[in-house]
Amino acid sequence: MESNQALLAIAETLLQQKIAPFAAVIDNDPEALRSALQELGNASLLGLRIPQHWGGAEVDGITFRFFQEIVARCSGALAFLQAQHQSAGSLLARSENEALKQQYLPYMNSGQALVGISFAHLRRTPSPIKAIAVPGGYQLNGQAPWVTGAGCFQTFIVAAVLPNEQVVYGMVPFQSTRQETGGAIVCSDPMQLAAMTSTGTVTVEFQDWLLSAAQVVQVEPLAAIAKSDRLNVLHHSFFALGCARAGLDILERTYQQKQLGFIQTACEALAQELAACRQAIFTATTEGNHSPSNLFATNLQLRAWAIELAVRCAHAAIAASSGAANSNQHPAQRIYREALVYTVSGQTAAVMEATLARLTFSTRLTQI
Ligand SMILES: Cc1cc2nc3c(=O)[nH]c(=O)nc-3n(C[C@H](O)[C@H](O)[C@H](O)COP(=O)(O)OP(=O)(O)OC[C@H]3O[C@@H](n4cnc5c(N)ncnc54)[C@H](O)[C@@H]3O)c2cc1C
Repeated sequence: MESNQALLAIAETLLQQKIAPFAAVIDNDPEALRSALQELGNASLLGLRIPQHWGGAEVDGITFRFFQEIVARCSGALAFLQAQHQSAGSLLARSENEALKQQYLPYMNSGQALVGISFAHLRRTPSPIKAIAVPGGYQLNGQAPWVTGAGCFQTFIVAAVLPNEQVVYGMVPFQSTRQETGGAIVCSDPMQLAAMTSTGTVTVEFQDWLLSAAQVVQVEPLAAIAKSDRLNVLHHSFFALGCARAGLDILERTYQQKQLGFIQTACEALAQELAACRQAIFTATTEGNHSPSNLFATNLQLRAWAIELAVRCAHAAIAASSGAANSNQHPAQRIYREALVYTVSGQTAAVMEATLARLTFSTRLTQI
């Protein structure tokens, strides 16, 4: 596994020193989260998948996964928010709309331009957002059920399904606004979530919104999302791995305070399992570059393992922290809540099935 060690070392130092100690406030306070995101921008870490000639860091896939894992270990809210922007950067970098690329890409690595995404609804049938071709572009109607980054990102890339089973991806403002043509974007208030409330996750309503051709990022078949879900099934696992590690960090600290041998025993056993799960996922990710599709079944199981392990490590941190873990401010509780988000983010029907199968299997083992 090769990676860009220098960049990762810079990222890790920054995250451990400037982000991890403030994870509780970053989870809750949008201003603190925005500052944390800007710390990443100041270190040129917000355009990791953007080519260098567009001002990005252009790191390889493995380096990017290590990075996602380290951020998730230090702050779930920051990991989740920056992931949306990094995805927008990758997508825009693949666009053929050179003018739009020129407008955004050179400013994304530093965080001068901050962009969200809204694609998850493409997995629903029928899609809640539809588009039709009109003179000069497309008209969008419907609701984007999840868009993260309200109040922080200036724009987001929304995906809308066309009558011919193609999908148009376009750049839209991330605020309630009205067009002269009568079109409107209406953002809800931020959702009150169990975790990562600071991320400003909203639903966005499109009413006859005119997406001009100049704002179109790409048009591709609807089937592409299912193909990408199969190829990239492991991508969300790295957040779960970082979250599991964060749970173990607490377990280790609790052992230092309480000096109870069984906490150390539990910590060592979980750390060993995490190392095995992590190794399997990184190996599969490296191999996946060469033979992507036939590994799908195994990769699904690895994703489910990472999800379940994140929840178990967080739960172990809670058990070892005793009653104090019930305080909203306790890190063990925050990490448990973050594990809840990673259980469902980027979920497909196949991932849901694998997650439930793994949980059912554990239950059966307990009964024996
Ligand atoms: C806090 C938070 C923030 C988020 N932010 C963003 C964001 O910024 N951008 C973004 O794009 N996404 C975002 N998401 C979406 C996230 O990735 C989704 O949680 C995930 O894709 C699951 O979507 P869903 O919960 O809407 O479930 P659904 O889409 O309803 O279902 C999940 C899977 O089950 C399948 N399914 C559901 N019902 C049926 C059925 N009746 N028959 C067959 N199959 C079915 C769906 O096809 C899909 O594959 C966010 C989610 C959360 C929780």
